[in-house]
Amino acid sequence: MEKLIASFENDKDKMADFNRISKEEFLESYSYINKDSYDLTKSIIDKIKERLEYLRQEIEAERISYGEIAELQGLADHIDKGDVVLLEWAGVKECGCTYHDENDNCTNIPS
Ligand SMILES: [Zn+2]
Repeated sequence: MEKLIASFENDKDKMADFNRISKEEFLESYSYINKDSYDLTKSIIDKIKERLEYLRQEIEAERISYGEIAELQGLADHIDKGDVVLLEWAGVKECGCTYHDENDNCTNIPS
């Protein structure tokens, strides 16, 4: 079967492994993902991380725009769990939710 080049930066399970294990280990455990897909994802993640650092500078300089905050919210899944500043600006709650109901009840259902 021919392997397609497709990035997987929005696949949470794969990304957890992507961040945890080496490229060799990753390609071994996901035999249906080829090296080109891995490299494509890596380059996308690198760009996202660069963008997050830019947005952090904008926050620190107190000149972040509404458009940039919206952009940050869209990148919330890629913010490091310990990065409280970016998470707070992205509207992510301490429990990991991006939103709660009107009574601030947690909507985070552990999978
Ligand atoms: Zn919650």
